[in-house]
Amino acid sequence: MIEMHDVWKTYPNGATALQGIDIRIDRGEFVYVVGPSGAGKSTFVKLMYRAERPTKGQIFVNGFNIDRMRERRIPYLRRHIGVVFQDFKLLPQLTAAENVAFALEVIEMPRRQIRRRVADVMELVGLSHKMHARPNELSGGEQQRVAVARALVNNPVVLIADEPTGNLDPETSWEILRLLEKINDRGTTVVMATHNRDIVNTRKKRVIAIEQGRIVRDEERGVYGL
Ligand code: ADP
Ligand code: ADP
Repeated sequence: MIEMHDVWKTYPNGATALQGIDIRIDRGEFVYVVGPSGAGKSTFVKLMYRAERPTKGQIFVNGFNIDRMRERRIPYLRRHIGVVFQDFKLLPQLTAAENVAFALEVIEMPRRQIRRRVADVMELVGLSHKMHARPNELSGGEQQRVAVARALVNNPVVLIADEPTGNLDPETSWEILRLLEKINDRGTTVVMATHNRDIVNTRKKRVIAIEQGRIVRDEERGVYGL
């Protein structure tokens, strides 16, 4: 599903974010990525959806070497990968439903089909009653649900969440986590970079720990660490 072979990343300013990453994540897994600030977690997940390019090494998503992929194929890759961010990144002038529909309008899906898909994912995230609210009329947890709905609307094989609970209170964080688990139960691979020690230690799942750009632990039913 996702493979990295000896992946290195040095940013143009000389900062080395990743050093020799080898990893394989299989279909249907739920994976936490943990580590101190600046360890390279965000770079690690950005490489998976080609928001950043590796300096060296190979990355496969769904069997495709994404670094060799032609520019015009990138939107196709992105459609197979849903991404959720700490700060939601919703478009403020659009309603919740419009934010979710956007990705489908771009690919010129017929209107009737868009309406059905949007209704389905909004129901999945429990926000059918907030379809027409704008982001500033929604709580943080609700905004993150909309962001999750948007990430899922193309039926991606993998959902990448970069600190999805970073701006949420503990109770709301758990709601979002349960939502991600529900999505994982339906077969979507979930990769979640997080600082949420409580969640990682309570829900024993695969934990990939990164420090100074290297994988220092990769455990099946792991813990957050020190
Ligand atoms: P984490 O998500 O674990 O906090 P990051 O992947 O964001 O780690 O950062 C890893 C290292 O790469 C840090 O030293 C950081 O300063 C550096 N870095 C991240 N993004 C950039 C960038 N766009 N330009 C230059 N350096 C960066
Ligand atoms: P074509 O028939 O023109 O190859 P496809 O829609 O089957 O059109 O695929 C287009 C390209 O998109 C592929 O050659 C590949 O580069 C990329 N691609 C296809 N499927 C995936 C996928 N599941 N994940 C990532 N990239 C993909």
